[in-house]
Amino acid sequence: LLEFDEVDKYFGETHVLKDVGLNVEEGEVCVIIGPSGSGKSTLLRCANRLEEIQDGEIRLEGTSISDPDADINRLRQRIGMVFQSFNLFPHKTAVENVTLAPTKVKGLKGDEAERRADELLDRVGLSAQADSYPNQLSGGQQQRVAIARALAMDPHVMLFDEVTSALDPELVGEVLEVMHDLADEGMTMLVVTHEMGFAREVGDRIVLMADGRVVEDSPPEVFFEDPRTDRGKQFLSKLL
Ligand code: ATP
Ligand code: MG
Repeated sequence: LLEFDEVDKYFGETHVLKDVGLNVEEGEVCVIIGPSGSGKSTLLRCANRLEEIQDGEIRLEGTSISDPDADINRLRQRIGMVFQSFNLFPHKTAVENVTLAPTKVKGLKGDEAERRADELLDRVGLSAQADSYPNQLSGGQQQRVAIARALAMDPHVMLFDEVTSALDPELVGEVLEVMHDLADEGMTMLVVTHEMGFAREVGDRIVLMADGRVVEDSPPEVFFEDPRTDRGKQFLSKLL
């Protein structure tokens, strides 16, 4: 569904993604792990064309994202993204944050957008907070609003970049739980995380990146029991 084909990305002289190949299949949860600076965030940002690639191709449902002529706004509607920092609009309530894009970009009518937003806020466990402003919400609640906001565009794939890293430890679980539910409902997900419990339990595949390359791509039961590569073994030994 989301394919990276021999992707190369440079920042100036720095070669950040090296011949990256990855195919996230429909309904699959693909978890990306790896050391700091290995290119995980850059890979996600390229998938959403927040960054341009210099070689190779990225395709969503067979259509090139990286082609300069691609209808990038249309493609972006099909790719939801949630970051470490929640970036909610501070002067808008939770429900207004969720309805904004569907009304502006998709032209959904106000009451229709609101009905859908209520549904989504309910799904992330925040019905009671619909009219709260971001500064009245905990970090975990804000991140759940950010997930609801991304879902409001009915994306075909969701990208998550360390969405729990900025949270107090006691708030991590509630966000992971929402992601777990999404996975169970069949959402296609590409997830960068340090949460190895989540990776193991929810991931269909574990992709280890190092120095801009995919160095291992294994099912969790293989990766966490008996990784196929030395890099995988090394990474795992540091976790224990
Ligand atoms: P972390 O775990 O710390 O989030 P990461 O795996 O997400 O790391 P990236 O943020 O993708 O790593 O960075 C990969 C490499 O690209 C790093 O060497 C980084 O310094 C470099 N890089 C990232 N963004 C830029 C940029 N806008 N300009 C120049 N170099 C960049
Ligand atoms: Mg990163």
